[in-house]
Amino acid sequence: MNTETPLDARTSELATNLAALTARIDAACRAAGREPGSVRLLPVTKFFPAADLGILYRLGRREFGESREQEATAKVAALPELAGERDLSDVRWHMIGRLQRNKARIIARWAHTVHSVDSERLAMALDTAARDALEAGQRDTPVRVLLQVSLDEDPARGGVAPAELDALADLVAESEALQLGGLMAIPPLHADTDSAFARLATLHTLLLQRHPGATELSAGMSSDLEAAVEHGSTCVRVGTALMGARPITSA
Ligand SMILES: *Cc1c(COP(=O)(O)O)cnc(C)c1O
Repeated sequence: MNTETPLDARTSELATNLAALTARIDAACRAAGREPGSVRLLPVTKFFPAADLGILYRLGRREFGESREQEATAKVAALPELAGERDLSDVRWHMIGRLQRNKARIIARWAHTVHSVDSERLAMALDTAARDALEAGQRDTPVRVLLQVSLDEDPARGGVAPAELDALADLVAESEALQLGGLMAIPPLHADTDSAFARLATLHTLLLQRHPGATELSAGMSSDLEAAVEHGSTCVRVGTALMGARPITSA
């Protein structure tokens, strides 16, 4: 931490929230009989200014979750100056929001992991884009892909239907410039989160039988991370409980 700069109000707020969240995640791990530290916190910074990411960087965070391409692309460009660090090669950007195929090219330039791949067409577009980005030297690893599963089979909310999961997983696993990392889900609105995450855990167990490397389970947000950790989440995506209420709510 830069000792010349006094702790401003936003820095202390974010530091306090980070400490509380870490304690909350650790408690959830213990309650589930899991190793504290076995669940990663992915700060979701959408709708918050890039300056906040600079603060989080200086507080030691190296992963950021964003859900809108334009906003994220601008923050990726702005972070080096805000973080006071030119070499940000240890930062991992996560695209967690719904993604259109025509955004694949730009996303492939900066995303370490995409949490929201839910169709073969999107996976193929991302593979092509990632291959080009690798060739152009814009990235040096395949794009890590999490398959977003629909737990209510409402196509409007995104996610692949469980019946189509195996085919999509096989396609991603065979794609040269993609790496199959695991699964992601958002519980259906008004659903019982406990049974939604239990269903997700079952799907993840089945996936692991075919693809043992697909160990990531991205599940749990501010309001439901305890239930997600109980059902095997390895990565909780937390916005509100860290950053405060968003100025506008996202879909
Ligand atoms: C915004 C968002 C989150 C964070 O939600 P909070 O309830 O603010 O913690 C998690 N995952 C996705 C996909 C999101 O879009």
